[in-house]
Amino acid sequence: MKDLQFDTKAIREGYRITQEQEHSEAIFMTSSFTFDSAEQAANRFSKEEPGNIYARFTNPTVDAFERKLAALEGADACVATSSGMAAIFATIMALLKSGDHIVASRNMFGTSIVLLNTIVSKFNIGVSYVDLSDLSQWQGAVKDNTKLFLLETPSNPLGEVVDIAALSKISQANNILLAVDNAILTPALQNPINLGADIVIHSATKYIDGQGRCLAGAVLGNEAIIEQVASFTRATGPSLSAFNAWIVLKGLDTLSLRMKAHCDNALKLAIWLQDQDRVEKVYYLGLESHPDHGLAKIQQSDFGGIVSFEVKGGREAAFKVINATEIISITANLGDTKSTITHPASTTHGRLTDDEKQQANITEGLIRISVGLEAVGDLINDINKGL
Ligand SMILES: *Cc1c(COP(=O)(O)O)cnc(C)c1O
Repeated sequence: MKDLQFDTKAIREGYRITQEQEHSEAIFMTSSFTFDSAEQAANRFSKEEPGNIYARFTNPTVDAFERKLAALEGADACVATSSGMAAIFATIMALLKSGDHIVASRNMFGTSIVLLNTIVSKFNIGVSYVDLSDLSQWQGAVKDNTKLFLLETPSNPLGEVVDIAALSKISQANNILLAVDNAILTPALQNPINLGADIVIHSATKYIDGQGRCLAGAVLGNEAIIEQVASFTRATGPSLSAFNAWIVLKGLDTLSLRMKAHCDNALKLAIWLQDQDRVEKVYYLGLESHPDHGLAKIQQSDFGGIVSFEVKGGREAAFKVINATEIISITANLGDTKSTITHPASTTHGRLTDDEKQQANITEGLIRISVGLEAVGDLINDINKGL
């Protein structure tokens, strides 16, 4: 279905109807599959005949999610995983070996940094961190043994952006794989593969489910890359369950509509915040005041659902705003129909030293909102209570 538009693919791609002729996708809750004969079993195991064997390898509901997401990302292949972290770990373990080196953006998702520093480091894989937007730092960090560039764009919570196409020129010239975690924008708003990335990683837990119901992840790329990642997940077991695959599969149906609504609400909230006396600074890529607005406008089709702002009065004032909310949930999660509010300096970025926080602009007055799908007027009133 190559010529169809995104919204059509999101609804129609992926699922292969069974002989029961069901209209909505079935959930195949089965750990294993049977064979017509000993010969068929032998042929399946030797891969002479394609087909299901065991749910750690393949499952029809999981396959449907993989095919649909691959179509939306413009990737040849996809392997689904039990979570976003499983996707990142599988990518690294499948494609790198002891002695290799990764260059990663400093402001990635907190657990991604923990994974690199505490688990991946045990396998003698080194990591250098760079500022996301600064191409010269990426170039400067390349060593003879560098095999992977790993990043998220835009970053969370401040929305820094890197020029993916320009970075891919550096990675290609040095024979390095470029992997982009696309959880914050999703394929509805950004297609890293079309911009030159080799690998896209997802936490489908966020906007792809979009309703806070389950964990899921995925890795996408060409057939050769995904075969390596899939052989890692087949052998180590972080496969996506059929039930969770069905949830995120149905999430993709409405992804584009939901992302439009998240972006609309976020922009309206950001514009309102800009005019508030008690607000020192607003970080939203859709505002012209954001330093990366121009690049985001070219590279993304919209600006996403994360709005951050700094209140005057430091931690005390920020906590007051957070505690005064009655609708918005106090939680560090994001990408949900429900809006969430968090204080990065004491939660998601609490592990950073004071110096690191200052360098990264994670101030004590900073508040992050993952803007949900409630009426934006109600969200504004809720935030206004503590301002
Ligand atoms: C949440 C998140 C992850 C981790 O995903 P899980 O599904 O929670 O394991 C990775 N990257 C980004 C950008 C995230 O927001």
